[in-house]
Amino acid sequence: MDFGLNGRVAIVAAASRGIGYAAARELAREGARVFLCSRDEARAVEAARKIAEETGTRCVGVAADVTKDEDAERFVETARGGDGSVDICVTNAGGSPATTFATTDLDQYRRAFELNALSAVRLARLVVPRMRERRWGRVINVTSISVKQPIDGLLLSNTVRAGLTGWAKTLSTEVAADGVTVNNVAPGWTLTERQAEVAESRGRAEGKTSEEMIAGWASQVPLGRMARAEEIAAAVAFLASERASYITGVTLQVDGGWVRSIF
Ligand code: NAD
Repeated sequence: MDFGLNGRVAIVAAASRGIGYAAARELAREGARVFLCSRDEARAVEAARKIAEETGTRCVGVAADVTKDEDAERFVETARGGDGSVDICVTNAGGSPATTFATTDLDQYRRAFELNALSAVRLARLVVPRMRERRWGRVINVTSISVKQPIDGLLLSNTVRAGLTGWAKTLSTEVAADGVTVNNVAPGWTLTERQAEVAESRGRAEGKTSEEMIAGWASQVPLGRMARAEEIAAAVAFLASERASYITGVTLQVDGGWVRSIF
């Protein structure tokens, strides 16, 4: 299937590793010119270099913290390169810490709102007006299955990402007539570097090996394993594609069947 992404300009946030990196690589494979960011310049540049080398497509790494207005502006300006425009905007960020109601103070809620909600709103505000003028655009937010089935112990993710999902649905309706689609990809348990680190640290706390931790997560999934980041990225690339032109306002879970609800 031709995704029709050749020559499209894509920005992918928080992409020096993990799901963001895999999404950037997948879009580059499909021929998009990709601009990725992460907070650390050396890591962003190295990630972009690897993708460009592997795909033969232009890929640029920019140092930008998605919780900062001026960084997001610089990131988008770099991708625009003057009076160009961004066609595809993939929002992503690191995860918020695992907490419960009893252990969460108000500042943690504020930080989580910045990291996992406003970071997406901030980028969308910078790119959507031009997409509407050009009557083509894709906004894809990387969220979590916690928006369909809250995960015990992840109070901040459960709370803030649900808000982002409501925002995305509202935005999708407002911009649909201008050819801009807005969707969310909700990953389930995905074996990224971050999850491997969590398996190690939580395993130590619980007296288990990281392999036992990973097996425990995988056992909750009907497909019987964790996802690979590339499997999440494939859904991002599809929603970015010309082929997904009639899909907007949805949250596509990519979770091996973990969410048990019908819709
Ligand atoms: P990761 O930690 O492997 O990668 C996160 C990336 O974001 C890194 O490149 C990091 O440098 C960058 N980053 C973090 N904060 C940033 C900021 N403020 N500004 C710019 N860049 C920043 O994480 P991952 O496993 O790839 O997960 C990506 C997102 O998907 C997270 O929000 C995570 O909570 C969510 N998610 C992950 C899983 C999973 O199982 N891995 C499941 C559901 C949801």
